[in-house]
Amino acid sequence: MVDEQIANRGITDSRVLKAFLKVERHRFIPQELRNNAYADYPLPIGEGQTISQPYMVALMTESLKLTGREKVLEIGTGSGYQAAILAELAKEVFSIERFPGLAKNAGSILRDLGYQNIKIRMGDGTLGWPEEAPFDRIIVTAASPSVPTPLLEQLKENGGLLLPLGESFSQVLTLIEKKPGTAESTPICGCVFVPLVGKYGWRE
Ligand code: SAH
Repeated sequence: MVDEQIANRGITDSRVLKAFLKVERHRFIPQELRNNAYADYPLPIGEGQTISQPYMVALMTESLKLTGREKVLEIGTGSGYQAAILAELAKEVFSIERFPGLAKNAGSILRDLGYQNIKIRMGDGTLGWPEEAPFDRIIVTAASPSVPTPLLEQLKENGGLLLPLGESFSQVLTLIEKKPGTAESTPICGCVFVPLVGKYGWRE
């Protein structure tokens, strides 16, 4: 998976590649789908949600340019796989999931794997996690019609917010960098994510 799908397609950050070699993706996949855990596509994880294609997780991770010192907020815990990758590359990870079942399941897998720098909470991630703000990086792993205001507010100056922006069935993965008095937006690539459902996302 790492050679053919990730390194071969241009992911070069050696810390990122190392994290993907270390984190066992099959641990985050429902038992009956584990044979496909390292395949080149997204997989269902319950509640109508999906774990993203490995390459997309890698591209998003590399785009965050993590050094190991960052406090990161993730919206959309899902399986917990992206959170584990982030925890290998940043100091602390805070992750929010709206489905209690998914949050609980991801929490127990991450605990079994021994991660102590990940905190998960249930709720509407479009509101952010004000008690823990500000964050160096924020990553949204669900598709948003616009940039949720609370997330931009909870981002540190010179920090980055990465999110799929656009319509329900097609988005542009976008990096927003917060600069003094402004925010710069850089499109990365086209993508398709499940919808971000919440106050500053899509309505239920
Ligand atoms: N990062 C995940 C991928 C999750 S798919 C992984 O590595 O497996 C997107 C997730 O976002 C889904 O689990 C969905 O329930 C969740 N989600 C959607 N809207 C949300 C919101 N407003 N707050 C928190 N989670 C949300």
